[in-house]
Amino acid sequence: IGSLTQQAARKFGDRVAIIAGKESLTFAEIEQRVSSFAGGLQMLGVGVDDRVVLHLPNGWRWIVAYYAIVRLGAVVVPANILLSIDEVAYIATDSQAVMVISTGERCAAVSSRLANGAPMGFVASDRCGEGMANYEDLLSAAPAPAVTRDPGDLCSIGYTSGTTGRPKGAMLSHRAIHTSATMTATMHARQEGEVVVSALPLPHVYGNIVLHCTFLCDMTLVVMERFAPATTIVLLGRYKATLFEGVPTMYHYLLNEPALHSADLSTLRRCTVGGQTMPTSTIEAVEAAFGCPLLELWGMTEVAGPAISHSLHSPSRHGSIGLPFPGMEVRVADMEDGDRDAPDGEAGELLVRGPLVMDGYYNNPDATKGALSEDGWLKTGDVVRRDRDGYLYVLDRKKDMIITAGYNIYPAELEQVIAAHPAVAMVAVAGIPDQAKGELAKAFVVLKKGASLDAHELFTHCRGALASYKVPRHVEFVESLPTTSTGKVMRRALREASSPSPQPSKLEE
Ligand code: ATP
Ligand code: MG
Repeated sequence: IGSLTQQAARKFGDRVAIIAGKESLTFAEIEQRVSSFAGGLQMLGVGVDDRVVLHLPNGWRWIVAYYAIVRLGAVVVPANILLSIDEVAYIATDSQAVMVISTGERCAAVSSRLANGAPMGFVASDRCGEGMANYEDLLSAAPAPAVTRDPGDLCSIGYTSGTTGRPKGAMLSHRAIHTSATMTATMHARQEGEVVVSALPLPHVYGNIVLHCTFLCDMTLVVMERFAPATTIVLLGRYKATLFEGVPTMYHYLLNEPALHSADLSTLRRCTVGGQTMPTSTIEAVEAAFGCPLLELWGMTEVAGPAISHSLHSPSRHGSIGLPFPGMEVRVADMEDGDRDAPDGEAGELLVRGPLVMDGYYNNPDATKGALSEDGWLKTGDVVRRDRDGYLYVLDRKKDMIITAGYNIYPAELEQVIAAHPAVAMVAVAGIPDQAKGELAKAFVVLKKGASLDAHELFTHCRGALASYKVPRHVEFVESLPTTSTGKVMRRALREASSPSPQPSKLEE
């Protein structure tokens, strides 16, 4: 991974690689900065296997620092810019980092949180305080020679999104990251000269793989500092984008943006979406509005990026996440007896094995043991089913399954039905405690601008499409839904904010 920008500079030289805000940089310019910045980091003492936390906003500085760290044979630990200082300090401590690269203010705040000033250096991208090096100064250092690494060596520690609990650090090898990038490029038919617009956070594996694809395939990446629907639409048109990549929440906001419907998006060849289940009604609405296929992909931090996806040329099967990448083995394990496979069409836990799988959670043997079997199978915690042609369908996360009076309910199925109501913009379903039934499904609904809907109408709509035990028992209309730093709806936060159901529900209800 440390030589990606060098190889790209040799091949694609003065073509534009990165557009970030007002700046645009060629492949050669990026490589020149990477090699100098690596020299600067080396002068500060960063060496092979050292962990360096990268905590900057999306932009060329993030990209240059990433490849420079890896060039030295060090291990990059990306931390999303939306994380709180406490969370970044946790990641820096957990990964035993020797250095943090961030803004001056954030470096100072992280430093003050670290127990008796742990032996950690800081590089600040702007105003820097005492004991901090300046990002710009490092750019004029003498270039560092690249350190050769083996494919199995550690490249990055990727922290998970924290959707279900505290983020865990997945150890990702050069092989895992490189394979995910080449496979993703192939599946989505990424070609030289294409223009990608992405607001995905670069620290998250999905945004990260999009970045590597740029250097592998000679594409231009228009990277947004943060997602904003109106700006996204402007950028898609201005740069004649051929590809947009996002998580479901981004598409929800884009569909609600009036400018979308008058924009010229005719250059788009396909878009991608992943990270969370997306109702098929929304996928269809996106395809109609964008005028191109929306390829759903499935991935997780523990597999370095996407690992299951639709390809541009496969027939669309909405609701499915597609087929495993070549070289990846998949099992759908029986929910009760994990040694048996669930029959086709039936729910089971998704297990994956192959070159993309992490080496374990950093410094966390217990969590590693729980997730990785000795023969290399990773338990994903996702409940899926497989059809006769091998296409996989995510039902939901095991942890989010609601058990109500002994029945299993997958919140995603209820969300799917509720999202299809014309007045609904976004919905999340979570289980709330109930004395009689254990848990009850509660729907949190965001309405479309100007639309109206009451709880009674919503229940009627659900009764028409769902078995009665699945119909949510409570509904709350909200302005927005809480999301993680990667833009995923956090059902955990909805559950925690919801008090138990006021009266125990009647069992016959
Ligand atoms: P944490 O592990 O900290 O709780 P997280 O699981 O959200 O957070 P990520 O590694 O970013 O962290 O996300 C991986 C998960 O995202 C998968 O296990 C799966 O539950 C979900 N996911 C990814 N893509 C899809 C998809 N296309 N459809 C449904 N779910 C998806
Ligand atoms: Mg996870």
